[in-house]
Amino acid sequence: MLDLTNERLRMVKDQIAGRGVHNPAVLEAMRHVPREAFIPEELAEFAYRDTPLPIEADQTISQPYIVALMIESVEPRAGDRALEIGTGSGYAAAVLSQVVGEVYTIERHEQLAKLATERLDSLGYSNVKVLYGDGTLGWPEHSPYDVIIVTAGGPQVPKPLLQQLAIGGRLIIPVGETSRLQRLVRVTRTSQDRFEDEDLGDVQFVPLIGSEGWDAGVAKAVRPSTQRSRSTTIAKLIRETAEPIADIDQADVSSLIERIGDSRVVLLGEATHGTSEFYRMRARITKELILRHGFNFVAVEADWPDAARINQYIRHAPVRQEQWKAFARFPTWMWRNHEALDLIEWLRAWNAEVSEPERRASFYGLDLYSLFTSINAVITYLNSVDPKMAAVARQRYACLSPWEQDPAVYGRAVLSGRYQDCEAAVVAMLRDMLNRRIEYSQRDGDRFFDAAQNARLVAAAERYYRVMYYGNVESWNLRDQHMFDTLERLLEFHGPGSKGIVWEHNSHVGDASATEMGTRGEHNVGQLSRARFAESAYLVGFGTDHGTVAAASDWDGPMEIKRIRPSHEASYERLCHDSEIKAFMLHLRDPVRQAVRDELESARLERAIGVIYRPESELQSHYFQACLPRQFDEYIWFDETRAVSPLPSVVAPGVPETYPFGV
Ligand code: SAM
Repeated sequence: MLDLTNERLRMVKDQIAGRGVHNPAVLEAMRHVPREAFIPEELAEFAYRDTPLPIEADQTISQPYIVALMIESVEPRAGDRALEIGTGSGYAAAVLSQVVGEVYTIERHEQLAKLATERLDSLGYSNVKVLYGDGTLGWPEHSPYDVIIVTAGGPQVPKPLLQQLAIGGRLIIPVGETSRLQRLVRVTRTSQDRFEDEDLGDVQFVPLIGSEGWDAGVAKAVRPSTQRSRSTTIAKLIRETAEPIADIDQADVSSLIERIGDSRVVLLGEATHGTSEFYRMRARITKELILRHGFNFVAVEADWPDAARINQYIRHAPVRQEQWKAFARFPTWMWRNHEALDLIEWLRAWNAEVSEPERRASFYGLDLYSLFTSINAVITYLNSVDPKMAAVARQRYACLSPWEQDPAVYGRAVLSGRYQDCEAAVVAMLRDMLNRRIEYSQRDGDRFFDAAQNARLVAAAERYYRVMYYGNVESWNLRDQHMFDTLERLLEFHGPGSKGIVWEHNSHVGDASATEMGTRGEHNVGQLSRARFAESAYLVGFGTDHGTVAAASDWDGPMEIKRIRPSHEASYERLCHDSEIKAFMLHLRDPVRQAVRDELESARLERAIGVIYRPESELQSHYFQACLPRQFDEYIWFDETRAVSPLPSVVAPGVPETYPFGV
């Protein structure tokens, strides 16, 4: 069993108090109410992650911090009578019941209302009453309420709730023009007819559906006409200022290359992990940067050892025969595709042709999911240069070997206290290798660099699998920090004045502080690059409206060719689509007309499709809030796109695997 009490206490300390919630009664309540009892059993281990979680009826239990923030902001007192709209799991009602006198809560899904009643009863929260019905009408019988908390986002504050608020009472509700984007608003009733509003910032809640909320077909909620005409103006501005791309291979990218200028790092994004146009356009820009601007390497969102094989291949180095296959883990289509192969073959041909060795290009992986392949790579290297140290490595890394099948289980075992962590062992191994840097690299600097990078990866991955259980923010930040550190080390390895090109998803490449990731406390490679290289980092985002994409429906599921739904009306993608240009480059850092930047400045939805695409729940699963001109220096658009062409990943016996992936 996981020790969830400790996790709960840690959650209150780090996620709640750590973010500025100070009300002692709220903190105490959060320390006591077991969130795990309010979520589906199979998700119990994630109960104290810093995130909303799915519950029954396709709804969510709110992020713990939001629950605490909302309760604190209505300034609850011990004897207060409270009304909550949107019972959901019943968790927030349980927390609230610990800080006020009585709680009335309403839920529009009968299944949820029933489940919440059972949970609250069985846990002994006897001062909570649940009603199944439309909460936008309130619960007049028990009014007036000292506090009202609405946990779903409406188009306005429902009038019946204002009427049922006591004089001096406080109400909190997410209110927004669209069903998914809201501002958190606090209303205080100062007299019979006077209400004061305060804006507490951006939030994202599920829609409040009811007679004073959104229609059930809420995704189609109509935006006010002023908003629509503004969108038309922006689309027109895009049409007037964007540089059209007629054909990827023939496109004149010289203006973009000029804007990139002397940048040290160019980050090329993608809005999906399976779109042909994104690969081909990035390859087009990459070739230009290598040919004309002396860029030294391409670093991609792939594992270090996998990319190292490609690097040997493109650099015409002797290829070591290995038992394992490169790019064989899910999602194989991300690199085993014809588009990536075209770039690899081009890099190989370029390296054969170019006479100065320093102008040859390299290919690297930035990611950290290759724990055991990297362990083997370190041991294989040490076997050849220092067999005694190889024996030490084998012994130290043995600490991790029980978890080879599923390293995520390692983190859980450590967290439960049943297993000693391996941090000291992997860190000692890295330290010992770095201490012998001079001795080892005298034999072969490239091989030492590769092995040391694998040892670094093992140390980062060991931590990654442990912090995974503390929440998404911690593990995301650790992974992006590792990728950025690797990028910096590559620049250092290639020497002063060296330059690199990064290929990763928009979510790593676009500055996280300009998106809702920043609000959650996440940073990424783009943000870290700007902090380190300032104007010398050039961030390019990519987007699409519709077409097909290679993606899976579930983790580890098979690749499918899926149809991308046309973009949401409140998104940046819709603005680009409405510009009616099929493909274009849009300069955002210092555009010809400043109005483009200004007009795009107010936050909108942006779509992100990873290796999983779930069109049926697209709005919840794939859209997030962003401020595009602060996120990227340039945005490249393809209105209609098609899926990448995967290479065969299962090889018939006796048939050599497609070169170079099988090297
Ligand atoms: N407070 C909940 C918890 O702790 O689990 C989370 C609430 S969830 C973010 C929002 C809930 O509001 C959903 O369960 C949804 O069904 C409910 N909801 C939406 N519109 C409603 C309405 N008009 N009346 C009552 N509940 C509503």
